[in-house]
Amino acid sequence: MSANPITPTIPFDEDGVHHGFLRLPYSRDDSAWGSVMIPIAVIQNGEGPTALLTGGNHGDEYEGPVALQDLALTLSPGEISGRVIIVPAFNYPAFCAGSRTSPIDKGNMNRSFPGRPDGTVTEKIAHYFDTVLIPMADIVLDFHSGGKTLDFVPFASAHVLDDQNQQDACVAAVRAFNAPYTAIMLEIDNVGMYDTAVEQQGKVFVTTELGGGGTATARSIAIARKGVRNVLRHAGIMAGDITLEPTVSLDMPDGDCFVFSEDEGMIEPVIDLGEKVSKGDVVARVWATGKTGVAPVEYRAKRSGILMARHFPGLIKSGDCLAVVATVV
Ligand SMILES: [Zn+2]
Repeated sequence: MSANPITPTIPFDEDGVHHGFLRLPYSRDDSAWGSVMIPIAVIQNGEGPTALLTGGNHGDEYEGPVALQDLALTLSPGEISGRVIIVPAFNYPAFCAGSRTSPIDKGNMNRSFPGRPDGTVTEKIAHYFDTVLIPMADIVLDFHSGGKTLDFVPFASAHVLDDQNQQDACVAAVRAFNAPYTAIMLEIDNVGMYDTAVEQQGKVFVTTELGGGGTATARSIAIARKGVRNVLRHAGIMAGDITLEPTVSLDMPDGDCFVFSEDEGMIEPVIDLGEKVSKGDVVARVWATGKTGVAPVEYRAKRSGILMARHFPGLIKSGDCLAVVATVV
């Protein structure tokens, strides 16, 4: 395979604060020799571990980009030992379009790993992370939320892994992030995910779902800001104690957690995020939109727990995920 075409405009191995870009050549109608310029900051002070921090893996999720822009602006080398690599908008073309996937190639970054150096724009970015940035890192934090079509209770999570020591290290970092909810997830379909690429390289990995609906809230951003600093302290990169607040442990044991709509229509939520639900309870109704006199279709929980996620915004199509019920451990 050819070499990856991305060039960083800043060094990765010099002390201090460097703000720059990952420059990816992208020849197109409005710029024959143009480039995609992905913002990146590298903050380094001497020897120590490396943290790789990303937001905007999906372009319509905002807690990560806001918290990481803030961190890149405010973190000084004097506060750290080691290196912090910050990419607030991982799938930068998607982020600029405010969409989950890239408008250039429809690439979903979290289904594009390990990527290709000679592939689409999204595949080239994925390949650069897979071959250059992930190998540099000891610990990786990737921010997500529900985007425009889902809303979540705020949680940080680790995956069930074959290597128990690696899983324990990931869970410890997730607990340090200290979101209001904590989930250990068995990923059913992990092919192509950034998560999988990071975990396969033996790194400590933390991911989140901090809200959704195509925006962030003051509360969800506060969780992100606190969490990223906690993870840096946990990794030994920042000094200082971690103050842990109570977290609710969630489990998603199988496919019964998911409620999918079989109808097109208007959602009537019957319970809200974080509320308790028993198996068989109605979680939402879907109303016809085109006429009156039609009873709504009721959708029921297939297990007991709390409402962990819901569809967003108010209209839904057949096949969309209507609700997710997680078990409280
Ligand atoms: Zn996402």
